[in-house]
Order: sequence, then structure tokens, then C-alpha cells
Amino acid sequence: MSKNLLLMGLPGAGKGTQAENIVEKYGIPHISTGDIFRAAMKEKTPMGVKAQQYIDKGELVPDDVTCGIVEERLKQADTKNGYLLDGFPRTLEQAKQLEIMGEKLDKKLDAVINIDVDPDILVARLSGRFICKSCGATYHKLYKQPKVEGTCDNCGGHAFYQRSDDEPETVKNRLKVNLEMNTPLVDFYSKLNLLHTVAGDQNITDVTKDINKILTNLD
Ligand code: ADP
Ligand code: AMP
Repeated sequence: MSKNLLLMGLPGAGKGTQAENIVEKYGIPHISTGDIFRAAMKEKTPMGVKAQQYIDKGELVPDDVTCGIVEERLKQADTKNGYLLDGFPRTLEQAKQLEIMGEKLDKKLDAVINIDVDPDILVARLSGRFICKSCGATYHKLYKQPKVEGTCDNCGGHAFYQRSDDEPETVKNRLKVNLEMNTPLVDFYSKLNLLHTVAGDQNITDVTKDINKILTNLD
């Protein structure tokens, strides 16, 4: 069975961290709109320059830009056996557009995994986050350090960075913007009978175990 999956949760809930395990297990591509925007910003493409104005303020990039990117990405051949969306949709309009894309491309969602975390702990998660420059693997100063200090577990790289939008002022706005949309999105997928919620305030390994149970039951 195909695995057309969506990982949802507030910024810092652990989507990127859990995505690393899921895509490895199922051999499906990880489609993170945030990663796509950051790559475009680095390359300074017209889309990247436009997205940066919003991202720097912790606001959402407009729906038309974001939906266009996802539709193009879902058309690519590597999504044949499934995909893992991360960070999209973030608005009801995006969720509705995704339903239309799923119909049109015959790639409708099979399940939505909602990583549920108390917003109060997210600021600490985001301010401690650091990322490998070469492969994008995510770490945390306290909760997930590389096994060998200064060396990425995944690719052996030695250079890391912190996201500029993880600074406390931007984080506050990102959380506010995302909190407003979270409940309507949860309701949307609950009504479609696609929603599975995991407790995201457990440690990383226990969250992974809960997600794996859900995915195994889908087989
Ligand atoms: P998201 O992709 O949802 O924004 P990340 O996966 O990047 O979130 O996680 C945010 C930060 O919190 C990272 O530094 C990550 O290492 C850390 N983290 C992720 N899951 C947990 C967890 N269950 N407990 C503690 N820290 C976590
Ligand atoms: P993320 O990496 O998912 O935390 O996203 C980083 C930033 O990219 C967000 O704060 C938004 O500005 C932008 N972004 C990512 N995904 C979306 C989306 N689905 N809709 C609008 N903006 C997005």
C-alpha cells in the first residue's frame, strides 16, 4: 500500500526529527515546505526572495506560492510509492487545495499524524535547535546531541547552524500564527477520519515508537 502521509504539529513539535525515521523506514521523500523555502532563499531565486520577507517575520508565505510548490513537488516521480509532507498544509485553504491535488494526481492522503505538544515547551525546543549544514539533520543542545561532539551522526559533517527564525522574538510570532490555524486543521482531518494524534512531549524515542505503531496499523 502507498504511504501518503502528513506530519503536522506546531513549530518545534518534532516533525523534522520524526520525519528522518519515517522516510528511512518507507523509502519515501520528505517534503518540507520550510526546507524548500530555505533552499530557495539560499539560492536567492525569485521565489526565495519573496518567501524570505515572510519567513524573517515569522509569518506564513501566501497560500498560492506555497500550494504551487507542493503541487509541482508531488508531480515528481519519486512520490510514486508515497510521500511525507511536513509543515504543509498550515491553513485551511492549503488543506483544501491539497485534497484537490490528491484527487487530480491520484495521491490522496492515507493518514495524518499530529504531534501534539504543549506550546509552553516549544520556545525551549526551538532556541536549542541546531542543524547540520551538509545534510540538514536536526539536533538539540540538551535533548539530542550528536553522539560525537561536533560531528553529525548522519553524514559526518562538522558545520552546524541555527535558524534565524528560531530567535525568541520570531518564535513568538511563529507560534501565535500557527496556533491560530492548528485547531481548524485538526478538525478538518478529524472529519476526514485521517487524524492520528501522538503525545509529542515524550522523549524522541517514545514519540517514534508511537508513530511506528500507527504506521504499522495502516499496512
Ligand atoms: P519541527 O520540525 O516540528 O519544527 P524539530 O524536529 O526541528 O521540530 O524539533 C525541534 C527541536 O526540538 C530540535 O532541536 C529537536 O532536536 C528537538 N526535539 C524534537 N523532538 C523532541 C522531543 N520529543 N523531546 C525533546 N526535544 C525534541
Ligand atoms: P518550518 O521549517 O516548517 O518551521 O517553516 C519555516 C517557515 O517557512 C514558516 O515560519 C513559514 O514562514 C514558512 N512556511 C513553511 N511552510 C509553510 C506553509 N505550509 N505555509 C506558509 N508558510 C510556510
